[in-house]
Amino acid sequence: MRENYNDIATALNIEKIRNDFPLLKTTVYGKQLVYLDNAATTQKPTAVLDALDNYYKTYNSNVHRGVHALSQQATEAYEEARKKVARFINAKYSHEVIFTRGTTESINLVASSFGKKFLHKGDSILISAMEHHSNIVPWQMICEEKDASLKVIAMDNKGILQMDDFEQKLTDDVKLVAVTYVSNTLGTVNPVRDIIKQAHAKNIPVLLDVAQAIQHMPLDVQELDVDFIAFSGHKIYGPTGIGVLYGKEEWLNKLPPYQGGGDMIKTVTFEKTVYNDLPYKFEAGTPDMSGAIGLGAAVDYVESIGRKNIELAEGELLAYALDALAAIPDLRFIGESPERSGAISFLIGDLHPFDTGEILDKQGIAVRTGHHCTQPVVDFFRIPGTVRASFAFYNTKAEIDALVKGLEKARLMLG
Ligand code: PMP
Repeated sequence: MRENYNDIATALNIEKIRNDFPLLKTTVYGKQLVYLDNAATTQKPTAVLDALDNYYKTYNSNVHRGVHALSQQATEAYEEARKKVARFINAKYSHEVIFTRGTTESINLVASSFGKKFLHKGDSILISAMEHHSNIVPWQMICEEKDASLKVIAMDNKGILQMDDFEQKLTDDVKLVAVTYVSNTLGTVNPVRDIIKQAHAKNIPVLLDVAQAIQHMPLDVQELDVDFIAFSGHKIYGPTGIGVLYGKEEWLNKLPPYQGGGDMIKTVTFEKTVYNDLPYKFEAGTPDMSGAIGLGAAVDYVESIGRKNIELAEGELLAYALDALAAIPDLRFIGESPERSGAISFLIGDLHPFDTGEILDKQGIAVRTGHHCTQPVVDFFRIPGTVRASFAFYNTKAEIDALVKGLEKARLMLG
């Protein structure tokens, strides 16, 4: 396993790739930063930083409105970014890509618009036990408004979804299934193909929260036949403040607009407004132009490394980390699905995750501690939270060794 990682890391030239990320050279408390909080947000390559800089320095202008040269240039770049994202996820049409503020806004958009039109008293939305708060609360809000209910697919104590429970709960009252592809806390990769197939057999659409999948593995919306996906730019090496909602054309055409304002209209009179076509119907107001252009650059960057390469390198890195962490006495994993990606959660003996995290921090090692916006998950395991190390392709075996050493120190200091 360890040799394999070395092979892939060498083939990809990880050391050279790390030079693309200026922040990775940072020191914290005089120690070289070891950044293992990639599930929260990823660091940005120079290509993305340059795209943002270039936009603001050379062609900053509002899109879709001006006849002047800069506005046309900004519009072209903004729409080119949409095409890049569409190609990246293999959308059939680029107008199926809606730019939002992030995963959270994308899910709120669907919950609000879909809910308004298709959810009625007695209906339900089916989510899973391992959802991020952003794939729980928007559904709760619309369910409350519509007198509908939220149903939850159970998981077992390894953090694996119970598909028999899914089948049982997939009844006629379910109007939409909304599940995460990869759990940000447990690292579980869910059997989304199976979920989609079964839901579609009953004509129920599926939304996938791919916030923790899009940066780790190839993802093809047509092959998955998924109805909606939501993700954030900042988790795939792009800027914050930009995200994507993909929706199948037929669904997006059926949904009412989410917000009203400029750009989302064809004509406005005081008596009646005619809404714009896709994608603009869902992009009211001045969009995040620089963010979209930065996301386009991030997508180009990821493609230049290759998503299959990323999946392989990270897979080996994860296996190495699981092996190395398992050797720490009293360490227990929270989330033990064999199908996993991205993040590893754990606890050491009775040590509070926050204390462990603080000791790691003093050694320059950035991990996340707490409930990771999945409070029902930590409640399920009856724990105060977890320590979560989460990986990107730019992480190294040496960084995992540093994590293990840091944890040994925490054990000695606190134990
Ligand atoms: N879903 C999952 C699985 C996530 O990991 C996150 C971010 N931690 C979100 C949704 C929300 O993403 P954002 O805060 O960028 O909207």
